[in-house]
Amino acid sequence: MKNNFDINTLVRENVLKMKPYSSARDEFEDFNTAEMIFLDANENPFETGVNRYPDPQQASVKAVLAKQKNILPNQILLGNGSDEVLDLLFRAFCEPNKDNIISLPPTYGMYGVLANINAVENKEVFLSTDFEPQVDAILDAANEYTKILFLCSPNNPTGNSFSDESVVSLLQNFKGLVVIDEAYIDFSNKQSWLNELDEYPNLIITQTLSKAYGLAGIRLGICYASSQVITILNKIKPPYNVNELTQKRALERLSDQEKIQLEIDSIVVQREDLIKVLHKVKFVSKIYPTEANFILIKVDDANKRYSELIAKGIVIRNRTTQPLCENTLRLTIGTAEENKKLMEALLAISS
Ligand SMILES: *Cc1c(COP(=O)(O)O)cnc(C)c1O
Repeated sequence: MKNNFDINTLVRENVLKMKPYSSARDEFEDFNTAEMIFLDANENPFETGVNRYPDPQQASVKAVLAKQKNILPNQILLGNGSDEVLDLLFRAFCEPNKDNIISLPPTYGMYGVLANINAVENKEVFLSTDFEPQVDAILDAANEYTKILFLCSPNNPTGNSFSDESVVSLLQNFKGLVVIDEAYIDFSNKQSWLNELDEYPNLIITQTLSKAYGLAGIRLGICYASSQVITILNKIKPPYNVNELTQKRALERLSDQEKIQLEIDSIVVQREDLIKVLHKVKFVSKIYPTEANFILIKVDDANKRYSELIAKGIVIRNRTTQPLCENTLRLTIGTAEENKKLMEALLAISS
């Protein structure tokens, strides 16, 4: 446990000082229960199903997530995809043209893009050749202006999750916030870092309904952190950042955990089947260990194999330009039928 951690030393000064926007729904919150006539938000009174503004705090969705994840609702912030959550983190903690963040390529591209948008330096410390964080190099790269370290685990595009030892060492020794992006956690046998939130006040976890939960189209990202961090993010988030349709759809889906688990199980089975076939494909020289719903492979010529698959009607991701990823391709696991077509195409190209 870090006792000397004071979140306010990391928050941007303008954010600390600012007064948040107060919406009609913030000022009179009892929207669902009260038999009131609502003439406070300039809405159209005629019913369309969505003529009212959504709950700015998404209380129903948070209540379900809190229960499922065994966490308090005030430790949850929801966003328009994790991409919005990540952007809020930059805007809350990183002073443009002064502060910096650390990301660990090859990894999710949005950390770097968001750093650019927010005029924040992105210090890149490459993963080791087996795609683990280089703890000492990361700590060396950090300075007094380093506010956030982004760990993506399981990592995109490599598929592995980082060793507990490295993550703990970073949580204990890195002076800023450690964001663990768990977009793919549901495909992994490893436990989420959620259970460690009370242990590490600098820990922030992001998850999403876009991958295992099958709801990429509704855009719902989740941030779990200390209630102090959540309070700061709430202060700066757009008032109605998660729309009514998204909240409804998320609630429906979250109530069907069994179906979600069946889909995840099927994807994991398909992943293992695909790995077996990949061993037989001559141009595949390496299949990287994966705990996600995709597989990174090394091939003889990524550009060539990518084009050959396109010609066969299959679109995968060419990652050859990423650091440490020369001649690699990333294959997302599809349905059994889609994977069968992918396997046939791979074998046909390779013979
Ligand atoms: C796909 C992905 C996300 C999801 O982003 P959303 O905005 O929630 O759809 C987040 N992080 C990583 C590493 C991803 O690969």
